[in-house]
Amino acid sequence: MPKNPPARPLRDGEVHFDVWGCRGSRNLLPRRSTIGNHTSCYSVATAGDAFVFDAGRGLAAFGYALMTEPRFSTIRRVHVLITHAHMDHWEGLKDADWFWRRGNGLEVRLYGTAEAIGGIRAGYAHPLYVPLDLLAMGTVAKLEYVTISSEERRSVGAFSLRTSPLNHYSGSGDNRRFLDTAGFRLTMRKGPTIAYLSDHEPHAGTAETEKKLVSGSHLAVYDSHFPDIKQQMHGHGSQEHAANVARAHPGVLVLAGHHAPSLSDQDIRATWKRHGKGVPNFQLAVEGRTYSYEPGRGAFTLLAG
Ligand SMILES: [Zn+2]
Ligand SMILES: [Zn+2]
Repeated sequence: MPKNPPARPLRDGEVHFDVWGCRGSRNLLPRRSTIGNHTSCYSVATAGDAFVFDAGRGLAAFGYALMTEPRFSTIRRVHVLITHAHMDHWEGLKDADWFWRRGNGLEVRLYGTAEAIGGIRAGYAHPLYVPLDLLAMGTVAKLEYVTISSEERRSVGAFSLRTSPLNHYSGSGDNRRFLDTAGFRLTMRKGPTIAYLSDHEPHAGTAETEKKLVSGSHLAVYDSHFPDIKQQMHGHGSQEHAANVARAHPGVLVLAGHHAPSLSDQDIRATWKRHGKGVPNFQLAVEGRTYSYEPGRGAFTLLAG
């Protein structure tokens, strides 16, 4: 397997899926994991458009790669899909190179629920930081905020986007506070479908929603913060549940992400071995991995990392 993705621009119809940040809740600095050190960020790249699932600190790595890697050199539009208002899902926006390189010509759109967009605007407002609109002046060609609902469908160029509400909250008991959280199902015309469900605590009542997002997709990222279903709390899922989803959908490559910061690489891999036994389409999300869509097989395969 090659260590690096190809050093040429993506061709029409080619689709790369990259993992930039797969650690949940907080960053591990200094880096101490070979699985994930940065908060949530994944990209779907084509010639022309890139979609990003969540803008955690992994976005800093994607933003730099976008400016420097030949395979991304034809990307003109970036659509950043933000699931919810928690900071670990948007803290990377300020670190994206596109807000710091003059005249880079990119069109950037941030999609999120009213709660998420409101949270981001408040988080970057003076005097907490520099408003993103100000960082956008003289750098990107365009910065737009797009308010979406957690239950809707829309088309974006050659893609269609479907959202469904996930079960996510902070705290527990009397301190429990729910967030308006959107799960995503992104379909490229004549191309793959990718599902993204994070942050999410599954239970019997969420099975239908999950099925709507995941059925018939080619790759699905799942909140797998905890090892086992019985440990699920604080609005997060488990590797055990994600493995069950993979078992029920053998055609979908299910990636376990949002790994808990308290877990060592050894813990995470041991859990994966335990729950993933006999489920080849259940894999860990690992930063630096690139998957490529093969239209002939109708499947993603690991290309690098
Ligand atoms: Zn999170
Ligand atoms: Zn969250």
